[in-house]
Amino acid sequence: MEQCQSLTASSPPMLRNGKEVVDEIWCLLPHEVFGAIYSATPNTFRELFGTPAELEQFWAEMARTAAEAGEGRRANEHRAWLQRHPTGWAAASHRVPMGMHGDAGQMQGGEKVTVLSWGGLSRKGTTMDTRILFTVIKNSEMAGGFATLHRCFEVLAWSFGQLAKGTRPASDELGMVYGPDHDPERARLAGTPLAPAPDGNLLGAWCELRGDWEFLRDALNLTHHYGPGDRICHLCSASRSEGPMWYGDLSRGALHRGTLVGPFPAGQRAWASNAPTSPLCRLPGFSVWRCMFDCMHTLDLGVLQRCVPAALQGLAGLPHGKSTKRAEPPVWPGGQKETRLQLATADYLDWAIKTRVPSSSRVKKSPKDGSQGGGR
Ligand SMILES: [Zn+2]
Repeated sequence: MEQCQSLTASSPPMLRNGKEVVDEIWCLLPHEVFGAIYSATPNTFRELFGTPAELEQFWAEMARTAAEAGEGRRANEHRAWLQRHPTGWAAASHRVPMGMHGDAGQMQGGEKVTVLSWGGLSRKGTTMDTRILFTVIKNSEMAGGFATLHRCFEVLAWSFGQLAKGTRPASDELGMVYGPDHDPERARLAGTPLAPAPDGNLLGAWCELRGDWEFLRDALNLTHHYGPGDRICHLCSASRSEGPMWYGDLSRGALHRGTLVGPFPAGQRAWASNAPTSPLCRLPGFSVWRCMFDCMHTLDLGVLQRCVPAALQGLAGLPHGKSTKRAEPPVWPGGQKETRLQLATADYLDWAIKTRVPSSSRVKKSPKDGSQGGGR
């Protein structure tokens, strides 16, 4: 495939049979995939990356959010990022917003692999339909110290640099100029536009990086992350321990709100990135504010673990934490809280069966009340 490239020039260190060797990883270069799809199937290109109207709508929405965000560091950083984006000179209808995604998945036999992908952001769709693969690496073959992963990021950042320009490069990711002896086909295409629309060249604008906390930690070499340490956020000094910086303080005056990271690079490097700095920091338009957790990890595996039990407490008429407010009348009858919780679980299981949602919950048989549940 023309858009397939091996990282042979400075192939990454890999672990093979426990030994560190320099080997190849194959990847699909985003700028070449972008160009190939445009020239081969313009309809698919628009389905993946958006019509001119959709692109305009995306940037108008970003500008509206920035204008309405009010004051505060988060709002200021969003405005600054939008204003200073290196692709900002181009017309909105020609700037394709793009996101990168990384996560570990499991192959057959439980073998873990890291999947790096990217895609357009102006269209909504399923993962299957919107994400484009960059590369897949077996975790067991990654060399220590992020060497393998960060070598892949160097190529990814370089390719996104080409997307931001909208043209094909004259040299490879190491700066070696293409020529008769070094990739003559790429030499022939050097300087040509990736996606020459009739009214101007289209280009790609990096807008976000998503992944779970583990991926973001490794990808950005974060000092603050949701690992075992006390400082758990890459954007502020929120702490796990219940001191003055406790992350669970959601009030407007919470102290951690005053510790949000400043402008990139100086304000962010201090705690966002260890040495060596991740190659992703060289992405055109990079800001650590645009590096976010997946919804699934934030909601399903994150706040919902607290919100759902809190909602259940409320519905079952149990007081919330230290609150002195009288609980609302319970939805389920029964004097004992165990009885009400069992009825709630039974209701939930009925709902799960009717809507075919898999559930591992069980209703425990109460010693006092044999009529309830019984391990359904
Ligand atoms: Zn934070």
